[in-house]
Amino acid sequence: MRLIAQRYKERLYLRMYDMNAYERERKQKITLAFRTLLGDKCAVCGATEQLECDHINGGGKKERREVFGNDRMKMFRYYLQHPDEAKEKLQLLCKEHNHEKLMDNKEWLRR
Ligand SMILES: [Zn+2]
Repeated sequence: MRLIAQRYKERLYLRMYDMNAYERERKQKITLAFRTLLGDKCAVCGATEQLECDHINGGGKKERREVFGNDRMKMFRYYLQHPDEAKEKLQLLCKEHNHEKLMDNKEWLRR
C-alpha cells in the first residue's frame, strides 16, 4: 500500500514538473514569436541582446495595465493575432536605447 502511494506521489510530481516545463516552453515560444514579429533586434542599433518592448508613442505601461491587466503573455498573444497593429505601435529597443528614450521623454516633459 505504501509503495503504491509512493508511486502515485512520484507520478504526481512528474506530471507537475511536466506542466511547468510545458508552460515555460509555451511562454518561450510566444515571446520568441513576438520578438520575431518585431524584427528581433533593437530598432536603433540592431542589438539582439536584452531587448525590451517599447510603445513607439509611449503609454505602454498604461495600456498594458488597462487592456491586458499587466499580463505580458496576454499582450504578446494579442499582438501576435494583430501583427499590423503591433508593427505600427511597437518596437524593440535594447536596454540602453529604451533607457535613453525614457530620459528623452522626461526632457520633453520639462520643456
Ligand atoms: Zn540599441
